[in-house]
Amino acid sequence: MTDFLQQARPGVQHLAPYQPGKPIEELQRELGLSKIVKLASNENPLGPSPKALAAIHAALQASPAELGRYPDGNGFVLKDAIRRQFGWAPDRITLGNGSNDVLELVARAFLGEGDDAIYARHAFAVYPLAVQATGARGIEVAAKDYGHDLPAMAAAVTPATKVIFLANPNNPTGTWFERSEFEAFMAAVPAQVVVVLDEAYGEFVTDPQALDGFAVLDRYPNLIVSRTLAKAYGLASLRVGYAVASAAITNILNRVRQPFNVNSLALVAAAAAIGDSEFVARSRDLNEAGRQQWLQGLQALGLSAIPSRGNFLCVDMGRSALPLFQALLREGVIVRPVANYGLPNHLRISIGLADENAFALAALARVLQAATVAGATA
Ligand SMILES: *Cc1c(COP(=O)(O)O)cnc(C)c1O
Repeated sequence: MTDFLQQARPGVQHLAPYQPGKPIEELQRELGLSKIVKLASNENPLGPSPKALAAIHAALQASPAELGRYPDGNGFVLKDAIRRQFGWAPDRITLGNGSNDVLELVARAFLGEGDDAIYARHAFAVYPLAVQATGARGIEVAAKDYGHDLPAMAAAVTPATKVIFLANPNNPTGTWFERSEFEAFMAAVPAQVVVVLDEAYGEFVTDPQALDGFAVLDRYPNLIVSRTLAKAYGLASLRVGYAVASAAITNILNRVRQPFNVNSLALVAAAAAIGDSEFVARSRDLNEAGRQQWLQGLQALGLSAIPSRGNFLCVDMGRSALPLFQALLREGVIVRPVANYGLPNHLRISIGLADENAFALAALARVLQAATVAGATA
């Protein structure tokens, strides 16, 4: 029998698939629990922007037959909404099937065998996946306080380096870097190296001094800023994100983009959501309150989290986290183990609604209590 793994490209043979958060329905099927709280995938607990929902309903009402046609491959309506909201011309925008798609477009366009790409330890898992699938070599640079060590990342550049991936804030750690650190980094990186600044959680950042990729983009022809509608805008299931970059880089990314990579309902919803600043502000405020609720609750349990600017906390359980993750599942609480990120003692917990946070904190207290008793009698 053919071993098809041997037929796959070398970069693909060694890939370990991305591990998504456990779906609510799956846990319901397995355990038959009546109440389940999912805080595992950094989704917006408010759900989608109401403007996005209304736009989908209106589109289906007005022209249901459109679902039988291909979507607008140029995404005119969404690009126009991005232009109105942020000022970017359409020739600066690449739309993606989630920003995950954008990350893969960058890898496909710029990387192949013999090339290097750099990313940080504990950084978003899609970077190594996208890089290795192309046959390029991924260079993982050691973290500093769980975050990106930007001077070390700049120092890791070699003539083979084509792309550097940065996440600000990073997932799963929630760590961030300052504008001055980023500027020093960009000054140190050769002008031909493409830098991806992934701002999937940018909308949750409250510090007015924080680095904003859009504010610095025009200074760096080699910079790609990546954003998503999946997190703050609450459209995770529709899969839509985008990159903004120079017209030259945008032209290249669009050469490897599937012609119809964003579906028509996602385009309609995203165009409505992108202008819904009120909803984004409400999501940010809710997140801020929820983060305080979690930090206080964790402190009461004697636990601490890595300082985070995202809509999640990476909590140090002080012991192997996997049994606690499993015990929380039995309590109806889905969080995310991050051993695959080199963090076997941490759990990543998305910030939910106040009652979801309270439910999860109470479950965590019970689970820790049981674990301590078991540990004492073992
Ligand atoms: C969630 C996430 C993304 C991508 O999400 P999409 O749903 O594909 O838009 C990108 N980067 C980071 C760091 C993320 O956590």
